[in-house]
Amino acid sequence: MNGRTDTIVAIATAPGRGAVGIVRVSGPQAAAVAMRLCGTLPPPRTAALRQLRDAHGQAIDRGLVLHFPAPHSFTGEDVVELQGHGGPVVLQMLVEAACCAGARLARPGEFSERAFLNGKIDLAQAEAIADLIDAGTREAARAALRALDGALSQRVEAIAEALTTLRVYVEGALDFADEDVDWLADAALAQRLGALRSALEQLLTDAQCGRRLRDGLTVALSGRPNVGKSTLLNRLAGAEVAIVTDIPGTTRDVLREPLDLAGLPLTLVDTAGLRESDDPVEREGIRRARAALAQAELVLFVVEAAQGIIAEDAALLAAVPADTQTLIVHNKCDLLRQAAARWEDGGRVHIRLSAVTGDGIPLLVHELHRFAGWADTTQGVFTARTRHLDALRRTLACITEAERRLAERAGAELAAEELRLAHEALGEITGRVTSDDLLGHIFSRFCIGK
Ligand code: GDP
Ligand code: ZN
Repeated sequence: MNGRTDTIVAIATAPGRGAVGIVRVSGPQAAAVAMRLCGTLPPPRTAALRQLRDAHGQAIDRGLVLHFPAPHSFTGEDVVELQGHGGPVVLQMLVEAACCAGARLARPGEFSERAFLNGKIDLAQAEAIADLIDAGTREAARAALRALDGALSQRVEAIAEALTTLRVYVEGALDFADEDVDWLADAALAQRLGALRSALEQLLTDAQCGRRLRDGLTVALSGRPNVGKSTLLNRLAGAEVAIVTDIPGTTRDVLREPLDLAGLPLTLVDTAGLRESDDPVEREGIRRARAALAQAELVLFVVEAAQGIIAEDAALLAAVPADTQTLIVHNKCDLLRQAAARWEDGGRVHIRLSAVTGDGIPLLVHELHRFAGWADTTQGVFTARTRHLDALRRTLACITEAERRLAERAGAELAAEELRLAHEALGEITGRVTSDDLLGHIFSRFCIGK
């Protein structure tokens, strides 16, 4: 039997013990398989209590049985759910009984894959299911649900539709190229292409924000020893995570702390104070600190508020990779009896705060949200993946190239080709254009039963 017409089974609930555990069966034989376990099936979408038996008629459990006939099910196939008691042994026995009755074990993500192949959800929505389950914060979960509801897919589809219209126009114009009227010189065409590009740019910006929400932001703390990096980490984490002492060089290893910063998932990396040292342990810490800096998307560079950026700070600042954004934290403002503040200088944001009293921490949190692309609200943010960003960037590059070719007038054929490529790249997001490779890559990362 081929992979799409056989019947699969898996435990759908989390491993371990629970009050209830669900075994899901999907495929053309789902009803027949389930009937071998539970006798008769209840009417569609109605729960009924049944004895669940193995192939020899021995009772395994008693539980609820639900039948979702095709195509009105998650996978679009015949689906039966057996809700037994949530012990790993009982559920495993149910799965084995289903296999004896003709089902086979599902591969990771195979239920979602079938839902996609049967047109129940598109690829971006299938990914959103995984993101919803894996969400690390409430905001991330809400954003994944928006993606599942089609927030990303609908905007991609709208752009794809506009692109289709444009392609029909351009290819039609090429066919009539010998006539007197030059259809491609039409200013409206350039305008429509420009509008398409803006829509794509906006979608890319929003998707970048969603990608940060899914994967979290990596922020590194840096600065001289004793400026208060670890104290700041502890303050943001709301717990004593890092060791704080007034002996310089205390933080010797790199500490990674995953935080939920008012909904924004963020990994804060506390590094060893950067300074020359003869101690081999401290030197290793400093080497790792530099590596962590190179990976961060944002560096919180901490200085003493009383001193501002002194020569030693400036030297360390110069070591931050040029393409990494830096925010200057002027710490210990309590010692100066100064209030917290935010200002901009030389294209950099500065925040004066006190890690010890907590004064100014909200300013910093707000700034981190802004950096992640969450101005004042997270309304409408949907989760996105690097794969989506990559496809959007390629689409954008093709559209930009098509614009250039059309403006040149000579390259109309090439413009048409760029538009075709743009369409293809865009289609990868929702799975209109896919390869088996891509599907395997995406669904194999799901867990079994999803
Ligand atoms: P690190 O080496 O940069 O990680 O600095 P630590 O976090 O270990 O702090 C060094 C010293 O500065 C400790 O004694 C902290 O209590 C003190 N410190 C840190 N932040 C503040 C602050 O905002 N105000 C005051 N008064 N002291 C602070
Ligand atoms: Zn420290």
